[in-house]
Amino acid sequence: MLQDQHGRQLTYLRLAVTDRCNLRCRYCMPEEGIDFAPKGALLDYDEILYLCSVLGELGVTKVRLTGGEPLVRRDLPVLVRGLADIFPRLAMTTNGVLLPKYIDELEASGLRHYNLSLDTLRPERFHRITRRDNFAETRLALEEMLHRGYPVKINAVVMRGVNDDELLDFVELTRENRVGVRFIEAMPFNDDDGNHDVFLSYADMLARIQAAYPDLERVGDAGGSSVNFRVPGYAGHVGIIPAYSRSLCGSCDRLRVTPKGTMLNCLYSTKGLELLPLLRAGIGRDELAELVQAFVWGKHATGHDTERAEQQGNIFASMTSIGG
Ligand code: SAM
Ligand code: SF4
Repeated sequence: MLQDQHGRQLTYLRLAVTDRCNLRCRYCMPEEGIDFAPKGALLDYDEILYLCSVLGELGVTKVRLTGGEPLVRRDLPVLVRGLADIFPRLAMTTNGVLLPKYIDELEASGLRHYNLSLDTLRPERFHRITRRDNFAETRLALEEMLHRGYPVKINAVVMRGVNDDELLDFVELTRENRVGVRFIEAMPFNDDDGNHDVFLSYADMLARIQAAYPDLERVGDAGGSSVNFRVPGYAGHVGIIPAYSRSLCGSCDRLRVTPKGTMLNCLYSTKGLELLPLLRAGIGRDELAELVQAFVWGKHATGHDTERAEQQGNIFASMTSIGG
């Protein structure tokens, strides 16, 4: 069992499999990319599966593949098959560009749960946000998932003056479609201006949506990363993720592993447990389990506490180094 000092059980692993990406979203990465890790510095699939089998025995039941863009990692379906043997729940967060190409293989490997990152419904705006021209592929990914009846969630980072005029368009997408659209507060990871100039808070987003839909009702579970709502009669729902306000930390059940094999207790951590040298030195299962248990015990109560305790002005250059 993995438990922290605040009584929370950690059952959900966010596994970042690469720091590379085929897009360059402005809130995430600078145009030229970041200092990407050389291949040998990444956990290989055997190392990942060994680590995950130990985490599975420690009570982790869900893994989400993220990155960077997970689909740019070579032979990803091979890893997915291995993970499906360990965890009952498998999911991926993707920008969708390569999804139409791999979706059959991934489904055969056991993956049907996706969060699709899509910050705009307007083709001309997609390039402004991502610096690439892949709107058509991402929309195709969405259509394909809906067509297959997958439980789709859309992640949209909401930025003042960039795409905040589309809040209501996204809400309208939930009228006919059984999708969950989740609006994310921009966090200060982009190696640039910290996203402060475009920041729109949870409270501001909610106020704008409620002004247009006064009968918006709160739905769903406490305990996820978003607070969820539904417009009565609509097929899908909308959620807001207070990623920067960090008001949902109390129910956090997550641990993270970066592409370079650092285990982190929080998105706002900069200090972690360096697993790659241990795995390469052939650490045994029991010793690994004990180290991980001791590490997660020290998880701070909130992301604000983590930031105060660990960051001292440093911040990851990009979410791609940590996995969003
Ligand atoms: N490439 C994949 C994708 O975009 O879905 C997975 C990795 S991405 C880092 C994971 C999530 O983090 C995406 O939904 C993305 O929008 C979000 N994200 C990245 N940088 C962010 C930031 N600075 N603030 C808020 N969300 C961010
Ligand atoms: Fe790539 Fe995802 Fe970052 Fe966009 S948010 S640059 S798609 S890793």
